[in-house]
Amino acid sequence: MEPGDLARYRKLLEDLRAELQTSLAASDDETNPVSPDRAIGRLTRQDAMLSQQMALEIKRRNEGRLSQIRLALERLDAGDYGYCTRCEEEISAARLNVRPEAPTCISCAGGGR
Ligand SMILES: [Zn+2]
Repeated sequence: MEPGDLARYRKLLEDLRAELQTSLAASDDETNPVSPDRAIGRLTRQDAMLSQQMALEIKRRNEGRLSQIRLALERLDAGDYGYCTRCEEEISAARLNVRPEAPTCISCAGGGR
């Protein structure tokens, strides 16, 4: 991988990290337990709990992605970035452009992600 590519992926990862940290901070309110007396307009308690479940799910996913991004930045610093952590083959640029935090190549990820 070229030094220019590495700098570009670092920027991508840092932007993503900032974005996720902001949205995680913003989601703290939504994921607080629903209080029994909560009533916002026509929103029922059940609706509130349902949207809390969704917010929690999104939060969990964002936290998972954030930790992958942190690991990818560590691999960048260590000079291991862009190589599959499982088979050590180079990860394709097409994959890294979509998921710069991807730790494995497409075949090791099972093609699903
Ligand atoms: Zn692999």
